[in-house]
Amino acid sequence: MRSIAKYFSGLFIGISSLLKGMSVTWRELWTKKVTQQYPENRDTLVISDRFRCELVMPHDENNEHACTACGICQMNCPNGTIVVTSQMIETEDGKKKKILDTHQWDLGMCTFCNLCVITCPSDAIKFENTYENAVFTRSKLVQKINHEGSKLREKKKEVKPVEAKPVVEAKPVVEKKAVEEVKPEEPKAE
Ligand code: SF4
Ligand code: SF4
Repeated sequence: MRSIAKYFSGLFIGISSLLKGMSVTWRELWTKKVTQQYPENRDTLVISDRFRCELVMPHDENNEHACTACGICQMNCPNGTIVVTSQMIETEDGKKKKILDTHQWDLGMCTFCNLCVITCPSDAIKFENTYENAVFTRSKLVQKINHEGSKLREKKKEVKPVEAKPVVEAKPVVEKKAVEEVKPEEPKAE
């Protein structure tokens, strides 16, 4: 008796689910169709602000960015998409400072997880919702996101780069013989 009741309840659930699906199909059959005429509609196309497509490093009005070349984004990227290279420079007041040389990001590798952005302590990077990034070769997907002409780089040119310390020359070993050849002083006459 219990198995018959189970059979009919399953049948009822199946039929109600089918009718629900069919009602959606029937409704959509009569709704107005919308076809996006891309790329003709580029100017009017609305892309959500939250859509992540391109990692950028914003530069302020003085063409400076906030990146300190700490490398945290690179460390937190799960698939090695970011490569940060830095340089040590000596500032005008004689202090050593690490500055960003290259912040390289590979669009072809990125999974757009946003971990790099949320872990950056300086809020130096963010995702833009630009969507037309198709290229013909994969190598073009690798991008340097810090600007070449940034003021920080100009500053870098002004200051003296830290030079590598010269290797201390090894002193020639003085042969014992030569030291011993020094004449002993003669005793003074009293
Ligand atoms: S973008 Fe942010 S986390 Fe990455 S190196 Fe620059 S300051 Fe550090
Ligand atoms: S979004 Fe994720 S995968 Fe892409 S660069 Fe940032 S951390 Fe790496």
